[in-house]
Amino acid sequence: MIIEISKKFPIILAGIYLHIPFCKQACSYCDFHFSTNLSRKADVVAAMVMEIALQKDFFDEKTILQTIYFGGGTPSILSEAELRQLFEAIYFHFPVAEDAEITLEANPDNMHEANLQAWRSLGINRLSVGIQSFRQDDMKWMRRSHSVTQARQCVQDARKAGFDKLSLDLIFGGPNLSLAAWRENLESLLAFQPEHISLYALTIEEKTILHNWVQKEKLEPASDEVYQQQFLLAHELMTAAGYEHYEVSNFARPGYRSRHNSSYWKGLPYLGIGPSAHSYDGQQRSWNISNNFKYMQSLQQGQPATAEREELSLKDRYHEHIMTGLRRVEGIDLAEIKALFNIDMQKNFASELEGLLRRKQMWMQGNRLGFEPEGWIISDEIISRFFID
Ligand code: SF4
Repeated sequence: MIIEISKKFPIILAGIYLHIPFCKQACSYCDFHFSTNLSRKADVVAAMVMEIALQKDFFDEKTILQTIYFGGGTPSILSEAELRQLFEAIYFHFPVAEDAEITLEANPDNMHEANLQAWRSLGINRLSVGIQSFRQDDMKWMRRSHSVTQARQCVQDARKAGFDKLSLDLIFGGPNLSLAAWRENLESLLAFQPEHISLYALTIEEKTILHNWVQKEKLEPASDEVYQQQFLLAHELMTAAGYEHYEVSNFARPGYRSRHNSSYWKGLPYLGIGPSAHSYDGQQRSWNISNNFKYMQSLQQGQPATAEREELSLKDRYHEHIMTGLRRVEGIDLAEIKALFNIDMQKNFASELEGLLRRKQMWMQGNRLGFEPEGWIISDEIISRFFID
């Protein structure tokens, strides 16, 4: 049921995120929710179909889905039939815009011809590909399930299959990644001319294999200076190649920003389906149980799989507004913040702002405040200085 956007009524745009909690193997750095035991894959998909039906009234009736995003985990591990079940449930219960952005996160080793064609026929029009590196040494410590040859081949195969919206991911700040090697990785990526690029700084999360190696001094994490140099090199090469650095970790050719992620950063509502998925209805945040078995059990009993729910206070909303706003190249509007939260940032944080502007870590134009690339790489730490008690 694809519907055209009516001009008669005010339309509320929203997105749906589906978390597919399965992976072929565990990458060393990953702390997302997933299982490598695939025996319950079909049952979890069946439970997700039940959850979609249970959440059919999640949005206001004037809401139209403008984005559908399959993330994970590894959504490309699903069979065509499993993906079809999820699509049928979504289209049955929600109106979907005719030009909806429909993204599937895909790993290179799943991107063979039959899958690519099946994804196209299901209406998937954007692939976000977990390349992570073009260096075989990195594949080893990352414990990725694909090879460098597959990483290169999959992009060409996706083009051949007709995908004209590709987002490619790389990770920087990894062990033994010199600036020269990072430059080579970026140049390899640019040679494919993807429409969208995500570059993530490696973080060493607790309870990961990587954390364990670092604790045992088998691997040394990169220094802050290395992170900074690699981030700035990426900014320089990407912008020189015509990409907009539109969000701290994301680059796009004009007209190809991720609509789904942009909605998060703009504070639009979204519904999360699947174990551990988060939702936001404009007032409340909620998140699902992070356990596949308990998630299924709950839905089989006709109960939502919500683990917790929180009402956002005005202070929470302010923090969230500046955290998401300052991730974007447009930055934040100080007059809007004053109107929404009664917080005069220019007055309350005058000396802080003066230092950041003087050191060229931030910029201010009229009422807008945003990060220079030199400040963006340490933006989490800087933003926390604007929090209120
Ligand atoms: S494939 Fe993605 S979700 Fe799965 S373990 Fe690796 S990084 Fe994590």
